[in-house]
Amino acid sequence: MKLLEKILLIEIWKGLLLTLKKLLLDKPVTIQYPEKDKVIPAPGFRGRHALVRDPQSGDTLCIACMRCARVCPSQCIYIEYEIDAETKKRKVKRYDIEALRCVYCGYCEEVCPVNAVVLTEYFEYAGYSRDEVYFDKDRLLKNWDEFIATQKRPYLNPFWKPRGLPEKYLPVRKRNFTGV
Ligand code: SF4
Ligand code: SF4
Repeated sequence: MKLLEKILLIEIWKGLLLTLKKLLLDKPVTIQYPEKDKVIPAPGFRGRHALVRDPQSGDTLCIACMRCARVCPSQCIYIEYEIDAETKKRKVKRYDIEALRCVYCGYCEEVCPVNAVVLTEYFEYAGYSRDEVYFDKDRLLKNWDEFIATQKRPYLNPFWKPRGLPEKYLPVRKRNFTGV
């Protein structure tokens, strides 16, 4: 029997039949991206970086606490600040993210006490030079404007509220936070 199967190339015919079946009867698992089909990323997909713009001041919400820069495993966040003469609070002078070095872990957005930094669900970005994916503060705010224009408000990124942590252990602004 085994010899007959070998002579008649049964296993090969089985394989060819399976290929034919998949080809003719099954729906393709691939999609015609980007020509015909759009990809909708899952909520919380970690894409292009942005700094949330404060609707009141028009500037970043960042308070220069430096937590994101410290926690970043790639050390690709660079922040400089000055002390505001009036309020005596820190004011961000420089906030850069070198996106090419980012590993998209999401720690920065999770650790931020005021939900000022976010990895948006926008993923269609690429460049021909390093500069195009080196985001300074203005570019990060612009990234936010572009992203939020496509979203329903309020927007709540799942990483802004770490799962499984009771509210009382969260920074004040993260408690009962329902979005921006
Ligand atoms: S996602 Fe991770 S690697 Fe990227 S900037 Fe944030 S903390 Fe750094
Ligand atoms: S953790 Fe948030 S508030 Fe602190 S420096 Fe980073 S972005 Fe700014």
